[in-house]
Amino acid sequence: MTLNQARLHRLNDQPISKDGQFVLYWMQAQRRLAHNHSLDYAIKCANELGKPLVIYEGLRLDYPWASARIHRFILEGMRDNALAAKKLGFTYWPFVETKKQPARGLLSRLAARAALVITDDFPCFIIPGQSASLARLSDRAVIAVDSNSVAPLRLLGDAPYAAAHLRPKIHRQFAEAFEHRSAPKPKVPRFDASKIIPGFDFADLDDPALLAAKLPIDHSVLPVEGRVGGSAAAHAQLKAFLKKGLPIYAEHRSDPAPPSEIHGSGLSPYLHFGHIGIEEIVMSVFEATGGYAPVRLHLENAGKREGFFGDDRNANSFLDEALTWRDVGYVWHLHRRQDTGSLETALPKWALATLHLHARDKREFVYDLAQWESAATHDPLWNAAQRELAATGGIHNYLRMLWGKKVIEWSRTPEEAYQTLVHLNNKYALDGRNPNSYTGILWCFGLFDRPWAPQRPVLGQIRYMSSANTAKKFKLGAYLDWVATLPAPASTSAKTTA
Ligand SMILES: Cc1cc2nc3c(=O)[nH]c(=O)nc-3n(C[C@H](O)[C@H](O)[C@H](O)COP(=O)(O)OP(=O)(O)OC[C@H]3O[C@@H](n4cnc5c(N)ncnc54)[C@H](O)[C@@H]3O)c2cc1C
Repeated sequence: MTLNQARLHRLNDQPISKDGQFVLYWMQAQRRLAHNHSLDYAIKCANELGKPLVIYEGLRLDYPWASARIHRFILEGMRDNALAAKKLGFTYWPFVETKKQPARGLLSRLAARAALVITDDFPCFIIPGQSASLARLSDRAVIAVDSNSVAPLRLLGDAPYAAAHLRPKIHRQFAEAFEHRSAPKPKVPRFDASKIIPGFDFADLDDPALLAAKLPIDHSVLPVEGRVGGSAAAHAQLKAFLKKGLPIYAEHRSDPAPPSEIHGSGLSPYLHFGHIGIEEIVMSVFEATGGYAPVRLHLENAGKREGFFGDDRNANSFLDEALTWRDVGYVWHLHRRQDTGSLETALPKWALATLHLHARDKREFVYDLAQWESAATHDPLWNAAQRELAATGGIHNYLRMLWGKKVIEWSRTPEEAYQTLVHLNNKYALDGRNPNSYTGILWCFGLFDRPWAPQRPVLGQIRYMSSANTAKKFKLGAYLDWVATLPAPASTSAKTTA
């Protein structure tokens, strides 16, 4: 399979219609107008077929965990796309579902007018189902394009069982894939789309906050002030990280800190919604650190963890997260998305066995969903992490691991803990509903990990983490002081069962 073929995934056997008015790019996951393989392929098809290109970006009301927080972030991205499309000359149709203007059937109607439909290949949440449903109903070709990572996911082998399993495969594919990255400035197709009528009213995107406020979605999950969605904000975030965070990344990425001290990139929500592409981030890291010589490094260091991307320790450390660890979740989902419904289908045998062995162990504390959600446990550090998540839509990377581990220890059953974590993460986190949401949570239960000694109550041989050790390892004062300034979650009337 060639590199470019590996990005394309045909979702039905229908033909390309010669009578179609336009090529339709249905933007679902890569919500941006540059550095986007789906857009590049749609432009190529439009030029080859001699048809105009229409870019359709929609936002429905009925996705799971639909809230003012998620909606506003997406709408801000749509506003950026509308502005950019106008500037660049693309025909861009933004659709925001309202009670008056339902989404049902709209896409099928648009597809019926198109020569073919290009969409994003994203291996998680509602996107695979939505794409498959259109492909089933439509008599036009529907093709999904993989713009998820630098290397096409289908060239990275089977579902990985560890990061070390996937890393050498990424390194082997990287140099060639990086040479063939998507266009930084895509060119509008030659054929005029200005006379084509959308068949629905465009959303007024001038004030995303006002628009989100009017819609029937969950308004208890508030938009995060100062956390703006869209490509413009994503670029500002990247710039700040390259200047302040990247130079200290290897040493400080795990330190819990207030957002004023940039340690991590904070890019995961933008990556999740496709407001920025990973290729652009990787390129910018190379430009900032000057450390990449593709062919030589590819040959000499393929498969080795350190030094693959050059001599810069921080760049290597960051790219190992942004490529290896991020891709672990995506590749695993490509093959095993259907298994995320429960621990029984998702976990390796050893992890299930050890959890079963300890299923009847006495739990030191047991909390229910309302107590978790309102950050009302006995543990101030756990409560701080949950409070950060509920108020800011983000959760510090190291604390996120601790946050997950403790829910396992203090829930009635591992399965209940899993469902609690999926719910909290996907409801509050801006980067939730992503392949790495599920695999990050499943990692807490042993996925991609190995058995650890000694056997512990409840966790058995699953890797253990404790708040006491975390407090010894890091200076938590500034972080905890900052969290104390955040609004408290709605209810704090928790009872613990010892
Ligand atoms: C319980 C749990 C839940 C998680 N849920 C999510 C989630 O919903 N969405 C999500 O994107 N990530 C999730 N992660 C992974 C990780 O916590 C976040 O990707 C990271 O904290 C994002 O912060 P950042 O953008 O500052 O990361 P940086 O440190 O700046 O890293 C750059 C990018 O690399 C990727 N990355 C970094 N760390 C990891 C990791 N451990 N695993 C996979 N990819 C990584 C992310 O795309 C990130 O934006 C979860 C981890 C755990 C333990």
